[in-house]
Amino acid sequence: MTCTACGASMSPVVTDFPFKISARTIAIIRDVPALQCDACAEYLFEDKVMERIDELLGNVTDAAELEIIRYAA
Ligand SMILES: [Zn+2]
Repeated sequence: MTCTACGASMSPVVTDFPFKISARTIAIIRDVPALQCDACAEYLFEDKVMERIDELLGNVTDAAELEIIRYAA
């Protein structure tokens, strides 16, 4: 896998990602497996990871300003 932004190789990482749900709600998903570029700050998710993120974010309401979710439930 190479970086779509700069073409350098990417390494697997596990990290936390914030996602904006609405104007006042942010969800943070912990321990998400991703690919990080060795040369720039670009991240990529594999398709199955993206699907899981969509599923997790679909369950978030905007009742709270900050939701913290574990990727691996
Ligand atoms: Zn890059």
